[in-house]
Amino acid sequence: MLAGIHAARAAGLKVKINTVALRGLNEDGLDELIRWCGELGMDLALLETMPLGDVGVHRADRYLALDHVRERLERRWTLRPDPHSSGGPARYATVAETGGRLGFITPLSHDFCGACNRVRVTATGRLYPCLGSEAFIDLRALVRGSESDQALTAALADAIGRKPPRHDFVVDAFSGQPSVRRTMHVTGG
Ligand code: SF4
Repeated sequence: MLAGIHAARAAGLKVKINTVALRGLNEDGLDELIRWCGELGMDLALLETMPLGDVGVHRADRYLALDHVRERLERRWTLRPDPHSSGGPARYATVAETGGRLGFITPLSHDFCGACNRVRVTATGRLYPCLGSEAFIDLRALVRGSESDQALTAALADAIGRKPPRHDFVVDAFSGQPSVRRTMHVTGG
């Protein structure tokens, strides 16, 4: 993974690091991650875990609310409000000591769907309007089956119109069942 990051940077691509903050796994390494990203000039976004896919562990065991993470980070770093927006759900701060940008993505502690403009297309041509739903549109079939762009344009408009006002994610401490069976890697980040 590190080699890929360095290769992308060497090729002139702007790299942003996304990291799911996990209780007992990486929570003690977040300061180091902020330092490293700052040194290399990469934005960093921290995310709360999302109940996507059956991964064989109970998410509740690893869930960290980012409000608490932020409180802890602010003991070491000066986080200044940053109005930056990528059009997505992250809320940003600038880390005064590194000059780097730090985002917080909080699907569980603060529902942010109302501001979400993201849709995802899988390698097999399915367009998912929302990470939190099994609903999809088969773009591949539409592209292969229609002579004009009209059907495709209508389907895309329909997909955007179906984005929900909020998700139904629940970290179920007892059953450990995911809200959506599809794992994140199928859809992409
Ligand atoms: S759950 Fe769906 S609508 Fe909400 S932020 Fe994620 S992708 Fe966007």
